[in-house]
Amino acid sequence: MIIQIKNNHTKKELELLTSFINDCGAVSEYDYSKATITVKNSMRIDLSLIKNFDIVEKVIRLKTDYPLVSSNNENVVVQIKNSFISRNHFTVISGPCSIKNYDDLYLTASGLKKLGINFLRGGAFKLRTSPYSFQGLGKEAIYIMKKVCDELEMISVSEITSVEDLEVMAEHIDILMIGMRNMQNYPLLSQIGKSSKPVILKRGMSNTIDEWLMAAEYIAKEGNNQIILCERGIRSFEIFTRNTLDLSAVPAIKELSCLPMIVDPSHSTGRNEMVKPMAWAAVAAGADGLIIEASSDPKISLTDARQTINLEQMQQILEPLDKLCTLWDKTL
Ligand code: PEP
Ligand code: MN
Repeated sequence: MIIQIKNNHTKKELELLTSFINDCGAVSEYDYSKATITVKNSMRIDLSLIKNFDIVEKVIRLKTDYPLVSSNNENVVVQIKNSFISRNHFTVISGPCSIKNYDDLYLTASGLKKLGINFLRGGAFKLRTSPYSFQGLGKEAIYIMKKVCDELEMISVSEITSVEDLEVMAEHIDILMIGMRNMQNYPLLSQIGKSSKPVILKRGMSNTIDEWLMAAEYIAKEGNNQIILCERGIRSFEIFTRNTLDLSAVPAIKELSCLPMIVDPSHSTGRNEMVKPMAWAAVAAGADGLIIEASSDPKISLTDARQTINLEQMQQILEPLDKLCTLWDKTL
């Protein structure tokens, strides 16, 4: 472990820190020219306690299970055409859970575009808990998505569920999404890693942050670091909401990883009336964007109608976003 020290520290502060490290049973070596302390046997120290010392600028873990996506790297900027998803920007992605037909998608997409949203989501291949539920239109929906996004100059986001569909999706869709059920589908992650496609990696509903970052590492390891993490709620004992939105994952990911991170207040709550407060809370927590299910007529959505918001509700969510983004110096 290497500890980067702030430039303006006093000798006394440095001594306090090094004696704390030594008292924990670890060995510290101070390098004056680099303002760093190298710590050997660092597993003896609780990292969070090191951060309590004011003179600590940054702690760099030398051994990590996810070296390519850890915060030891420069923050990743994901580029899609002329748009960027990064820690300096705030991005709103919206659209229906699943694509029904061309007219329906066009109506929703044009409404969102009028509100200033340029990223359109829509599911073609749906992984449903019941085999009897609507499974998505498949490839037909991919072509509909492509047509609508070309006509409205929007960026498309759609979930990939199988390696088999990679070719057609990579050709027609701008950002691939890996849903929570596939977060640990390692062959799928590796294949996407071999493509250069930007990818949203949703957190599995029972996965820890470490497991999520190692899943991202599977993609990065193959050469693709254009990854956006998405917190979409985890399963807890609470059943009033569909899932429990773990907003503490936002600052945790910022500390641990170099990847941008968005929040899904739709699948995490399962209730359209809760999307606005949770969306605002996500911005306040420091998220780099939102992915929200919306439709011009939510009640006739084929999937996830209960959590889908209408365009007026979307407008209300967007209203204070520029002000909220100033909390983190982000541009909208
Ligand atoms: C979705 O985005 O429609 C979806 C199925 O999400 P998740 O995988 O997070 O449940
Ligand atoms: Mn959905």
